[in-house]
Amino acid sequence: MGNLVSISDSSTLIGTDQPPTLRAPEIEAGVGCDFDSYLLVPDNALDDRIAAAKARLGQNVVILGHHYQRDEVIKFADFRGDSLKLSFQAAQAEGRYIVFCGVHFMAESADILRHAGCSMADMADIGQVEACWSELSSLLDSHKIIPVTYMNSTAAIKAFTGEHGGSVCTSSNAAAVMNWAFESGEKVLFLPDEHLGRNTGFRMGIPLEQMIVWDPYQEYGGNTPEAIRNARVILWKGYCSVHQRFTPQQVERVRREHPGIRVIAHPECRFEVAQAADQIGSTEGIIKAIEASPAGTEWAVGTEIHLVNRLGKELRNHKVISLDPSVCVCTTMFRITPQHLLWALENLGEGNVVNRISVDERTRHHARLALDRMLSLR
Ligand code: SF4
Repeated sequence: MGNLVSISDSSTLIGTDQPPTLRAPEIEAGVGCDFDSYLLVPDNALDDRIAAAKARLGQNVVILGHHYQRDEVIKFADFRGDSLKLSFQAAQAEGRYIVFCGVHFMAESADILRHAGCSMADMADIGQVEACWSELSSLLDSHKIIPVTYMNSTAAIKAFTGEHGGSVCTSSNAAAVMNWAFESGEKVLFLPDEHLGRNTGFRMGIPLEQMIVWDPYQEYGGNTPEAIRNARVILWKGYCSVHQRFTPQQVERVRREHPGIRVIAHPECRFEVAQAADQIGSTEGIIKAIEASPAGTEWAVGTEIHLVNRLGKELRNHKVISLDPSVCVCTTMFRITPQHLLWALENLGEGNVVNRISVDERTRHHARLALDRMLSLR
């Protein structure tokens, strides 16, 4: 079993937003465990040093890169993917170390399966979710409520889900998991992304009025007991700060300015955007849809800008633009720099595991149940 190293954790890393006070002459560029000194490595030396550190580690290291990573980082990834694909890669990887270039919940999931702060994941606090469960249980038979949590959630939320008979889902398989949940119970508590839950439920034929939103800051989530009893899906009031930015007005504008363009949106986008788009696609689904379209097809894409730009560069037979004319970047993913990658790799070469991600045994046990339920539905 390998060690999971994340260069994803915004709370423990020095991000790119650090003040340039670290340029003290006595700090040697990039030596040892201290990340600060890696900020002094000149840009033109980064590629060679990363390549050399990776070569030294050889088969001992596998680098996983999420599609939303910047080009300077993802070019070193052995495998690119969305959170689901990378979790499978992590589970199968034979290297002694996995360096996960993604956000924290992804590295946690990989660690759970294998035995890297995301605004959305942080919106479902375990204490709030437990309080919600206890309020729901005061009104309903809790055995008939099946929690379903998006992969983009903390290990604690995945563990809660597993402990209460529920499953993890991703944007690719959310409908299959919700179908399974309705075979096992009568209602779904969908965590932590309101939009993915609503978009998926609606496409499954569940009317909007049977999907209520649970606001953790209000009694009964801001709902009446009657509305809760009548609901089929209870949507946690959380969202992705990147995908929430897309608007139906942007869809209208892009259609006006680019007649014939196809619009594809990630299901984390709000309902009105998903309805206005020609297609909905998970991260991998977006890539496949554009790749499979006839040469010359123009696309406006509602997802993170690094992936959109990369598709525009790599798929030269297609024109790919962002739905949002201002930059729509995942700031937590963007905190990973080539310096972070170099820091992790060179330290591994020295036998130092920096920024190790691990999940405690109890959390791992229950979260694994929820992840395994999802994997059994593949
Ligand atoms: S794109 Fe959204 S959900 Fe994905 S990591 Fe960034 S903030 Fe989290």
